Amino acid sequence: MQVDHIGIAVNRIADALPGWESTLGVRGSSPEAVPTQKVKVSFLDAGGTHLELLEPTEADGSVGRFLQQRGEGLHHVAFAVPSVDAALAEVARRGGRLVDTASRPGARGRRVGFAHPAAHHGVLVEFVERP
Ligand code: ZN
Repeated sequence: MQVDHIGIAVNRIADALPGWESTLGVRGSSPEAVPTQKVKVSFLDAGGTHLELLEPTEADGSVGRFLQQRGEGLHHVAFAVPSVDAALAEVARRGGRLVDTASRPGARGRRVGFAHPAAHHGVLVEFVERP
């Protein structure tokens, strides 16, 4: 399993992007709305692993609540898998805790699914299908 991207929760992508762009020397993608997660996201390519900046579009979404409780910073680590549904089923079979029991549409037109942060000391884990 490879790390696909690292999700960072921010209050505003427009405020967060310049710092990341000057540190990494790459441009962030145009913000994309992900209605199923009540966020908009921008990706920066850091040599194959991406950073995903997440800005809430609604305060009651999971990223909105995360920001209220914990402030900006590391939100999730995403691993690339051949099948999100198979990865979620495998976690369940091993007795792990899930947010999603089935994959759902995520950013960049990919299927995604999440394992519960309580199982990883507060770090949410995302599985993402590479096209
Ligand atoms: Zn993500």
